Amino acid sequence: MDTEKLHVAIVASPGLGHLTPVLLLGNRLATHHNIHVTVIVVTTQLSPAESKILHPSTAPKLLNIVQVPHVDISGLIDANTKVVTQLSIMMRETRPRIRSAISAMNHRPDALIVDLFGSELFPIAEEFCMPRYIFVTSTAWFVALTTYCQVLDKEIQGEYVDQKEPLKIPGCRPVHPKDVVDPMLDRSDQQYREYIRHGVEYSMFDGILMNTWEDLEPTTIQALRNDEILQTVVKVPVYPIGPLSTPVKPVSQKSELIEWLDTQPSDSVMYVSFGSGGTMAAEQVNELAWGLELSQQRFIWVVRPPMESHADGTFFTAGNGPDGTPAYLPERFLTRTHKLGKVVPLWVPQMEILNHPSVGVFLSHCGWNSALESISNGVPMVAWPLYAEQRLNATLLTEDLGVAWRPTVLPAKKVVEREEIEKMVRNVMQYREEGKGRWERVKEVKCSGDRALSKGGSSYNSLCEVIKDCERRLKKLI
Ligand code: UDP
Ligand code: UDP
Repeated sequence: MDTEKLHVAIVASPGLGHLTPVLLLGNRLATHHNIHVTVIVVTTQLSPAESKILHPSTAPKLLNIVQVPHVDISGLIDANTKVVTQLSIMMRETRPRIRSAISAMNHRPDALIVDLFGSELFPIAEEFCMPRYIFVTSTAWFVALTTYCQVLDKEIQGEYVDQKEPLKIPGCRPVHPKDVVDPMLDRSDQQYREYIRHGVEYSMFDGILMNTWEDLEPTTIQALRNDEILQTVVKVPVYPIGPLSTPVKPVSQKSELIEWLDTQPSDSVMYVSFGSGGTMAAEQVNELAWGLELSQQRFIWVVRPPMESHADGTFFTAGNGPDGTPAYLPERFLTRTHKLGKVVPLWVPQMEILNHPSVGVFLSHCGWNSALESISNGVPMVAWPLYAEQRLNATLLTEDLGVAWRPTVLPAKKVVEREEIEKMVRNVMQYREEGKGRWERVKEVKCSGDRALSKGGSSYNSLCEVIKDCERRLKKLI
């Protein structure tokens, strides 16, 4: 290993939605900026998809990957412990193991980058005198809300969702009460306190990296930098370095799904998926099935068993109807729709699908990785947010960027009924023929993202600034 090179460690907290952008950031630093990168992955039980991207044959070649198994926290949580609390506890408890892994490295990293649950690792950076940065794998708007929540906490009485007025963040688009992130839904829950603490701790780092770019969120990024009031909580430089999104690799053998797509007209298929973990209530799954069928538009639907049943992938064999239709889909759904669409259990190679010319629209839960993947393929979305910060993303994509449509009721709140889904899917797919609005806009946004990442582009330069800042700190010039 070249010990002259700057060595950066990036820590990914558990979950594919965190691991994916961390690997992409690592890969960019290594390939475009000549940095030696170690990615430290805090592992729980790895899903097959996580195991695949970490496998030596598929993991980015230039990265040194170290897996640190998380500490068992089952004694510290119960069935009601929410995900932000769980991840915060897990990262805190696993901190000694991560410290040991870093301390045991022959060439110790010069700097530390942690993802959004990694603020727990601040003491390690302090102990080893490493410049330290937080990498928020979401939007600038999310950073603004998260850092400003400590102020909202003092200003606002009662639950945020019950407020009559939008939540004001200085210099930024206000947040509609219905769009708040999950940890803000219940102020008495521990995950709300953990979330506020994260926002406070961002400003202890030397800078905040964000998976967005200047032209995507110009007003919010300017406010994070220059708004006097917002600066009192943000305090440190922000670096928009995105869109980091998975490249499409050529595949040696086409799957049946891709072969089917090859036979469909261009832009005619709606891809329906809710991320690596999104599940819906049984009633909603049923309505979505009816809505897709009634619309008579082509689709690929990655189906997960509804929340009420077991997410163990056995649904295609257990309790299926005579034609193989799982019990929670309308009877004989697969037979009636077999010419129209493909129902795929649990998982598809998403980038390959979005990159296919036959795919015209993505009905998505608006996880930020999925949103960027859709944009980077020039595919507009139907926003169907479920949890985490997805309602915020959906509003940004729909109202601000104009690259998504959405149903009139908020899917996270109420069941969206089949008639509405039918109408929306038909509207969106048929509107394509007129080639207007959101279809054109998403292509412009794609191009602006490509420009930001190219040499000399705003995100490229922003990452150069991070490296310069880091070098100055190592030379004790700051
Ligand atoms: N993904 C995939 N196939 C699937 C579902 C998800 O490849 O069937 C990938 C997707 O491409 C994205 C990630 O899993 O990179 C999901 O991240 P996102 O932020 O969209 O949502 P999350 O899963 O964290 O809710
Ligand atoms: N639409 C929708 N939800 C939305 C926005 C639009 O269902 O959030 C429908 C709308 O009713 C219309 C079509 O999508 O039939 C196109 O809407 P719009 O004129 O806003 O889209 P653009 O011209 O930007 O493509």
